[in-house]
Amino acid sequence: MTSTKHAAVVTRFAPSPTGKFHVGGIRSALYNYLFARKHGGTYILRCEDTDRVRSKKEYEEYFLDVFRWLGLEHDAYYRQSDRTALYRDYLEKLIAADKAYLSKEEPKEVGQRSEVIRFRNPNKKVPFHDEVLGDIIFDTEELGDFVIARDFENPLYHFTVVVDDHEMGVTHVIRGQEHVSNTPRQILIQEAIGAKRPIYAHGSVILNEARAKLSKRDPLVRPALEYQEDGYLPAAMLNFMALLGWNPGTEQEIFTLSELVDSFSLERMQKPGAVFNPEKLEWINKEHIKRLSRDEQAAHFESFLAPEIKTLPGYEKTKLLKILPTVIERISHFGEITSLSAAGELSYYFAEPTYEKERLFWKDERDSTKLLERLVKTKTLIGGVKDGDFTRENVKNALWEYANGEGRGQVLWPLRYALSGMEKSPDPFQLAEILGKDKTLERIDRAIAITHGT
Ligand code: GLU
Repeated sequence: MTSTKHAAVVTRFAPSPTGKFHVGGIRSALYNYLFARKHGGTYILRCEDTDRVRSKKEYEEYFLDVFRWLGLEHDAYYRQSDRTALYRDYLEKLIAADKAYLSKEEPKEVGQRSEVIRFRNPNKKVPFHDEVLGDIIFDTEELGDFVIARDFENPLYHFTVVVDDHEMGVTHVIRGQEHVSNTPRQILIQEAIGAKRPIYAHGSVILNEARAKLSKRDPLVRPALEYQEDGYLPAAMLNFMALLGWNPGTEQEIFTLSELVDSFSLERMQKPGAVFNPEKLEWINKEHIKRLSRDEQAAHFESFLAPEIKTLPGYEKTKLLKILPTVIERISHFGEITSLSAAGELSYYFAEPTYEKERLFWKDERDSTKLLERLVKTKTLIGGVKDGDFTRENVKNALWEYANGEGRGQVLWPLRYALSGMEKSPDPFQLAEILGKDKTLERIDRAIAITHGT
């Protein structure tokens, strides 16, 4: 077990820039960040781009953007392709000490190299302790003299990772369980270069909901910035990822980043696989949305509103603020605003709706005289609400008795349709308050005019 006080904690997150960084990868970065911050240590971000064929600059930019979005600031940044000379040095020393050697290879294909650098495997059992998994022992014999570099300019991952962790003074290696089987090999290299063994904590496997193979569109392997584009909040994303394989030991579920820093511990990382549950993400995101200030909510709302709406002549910021609470109620991430706009569910606040006469009728009713009478009565009752008091409550009070006597559907459906031109919308009292008295009466008049024509 680790004690709660650590002298000079150094952690690192070491992504390889071989594809758009997946959302599931956020977890290890976060845990390393939290652990370093909690103990006043250093958090290193290291770009592991030794695979020259698969590594791309754009993917490095991509994960940097991800961490910028999330606000996970690193204290130092390294790129392995800048450190070839250092690795070469280590390779030469190992060879001089006969702990590694140049090995002639029989090329299996044309163009394949005829020499690689192999590690002289002492072929022993390697026991190590993992903070999450407990004590583990691996027999490294079957690994043979594994390759640590293609040549002096092209060291391989197992080698560079060990050299870097040593050079950077990394004290804790927190990473996913897929790296457990890499650990014994890396420990052998550590021993050969005289490096201190870091403390290991391998986080649980992250599973998708079906606990099945991942498809490309699986929420767990989506490129992380798609969640930004969909209007998820970074704080919510971090909160959600933190709980995938760690628990605070309390009932608390909603955390800010600094609360996570305070609560995080390796002891509470859990062993069983954690399921990436998109509904839970929606819930957590909604909770974070609720905690934003009105101005922050409005800024997100506006940025996700379709340009077609923002350019309507009737578009005003004050109206946006009025609609805000009803919209916030309906969404769990801001990207849903784009679909609401596309479905025409927001434009009627800013532009006159178009109507289809038939739809003014409640269900199967087709009595135009009755409909007309109800619309006229509705207009009179609503018209009686004082100008300065035109609130949802007052509009409701003005209509309630009449609506109950006449049939709520019979009265409230045509009103709602008159105000929105939509079959689905917030309740008519809410709509009336948002639109204001003049606009409300004007739209009822338009419905009356149409009814006359039926
Ligand atoms: N670069 C490795 C990867 O992306 C991670 C290395 C490590 O965490 O030890 O899988």
